[in-house]
Amino acid sequence: MTECPECEAIVENHDKILGEVFPCPDCGTELEVLGTEPFAVQPAPKEAEDWGE
Ligand SMILES: [Zn+2]
Repeated sequence: MTECPECEAIVENHDKILGEVFPCPDCGTELEVLGTEPFAVQPAPKEAEDWGE
């Protein structure tokens, strides 16, 4: 179990795999699984959309 780096909500590992990207159940931020033992996540890089900055 770890925390969302954006909102600090508890994020549990329900059969997540290394490299999987999933939305935080609380804030919706896309999180990438960095490790499963121990479970660790980081905000996923946004690749799908170009925000035009
Ligand atoms: Zn969150």
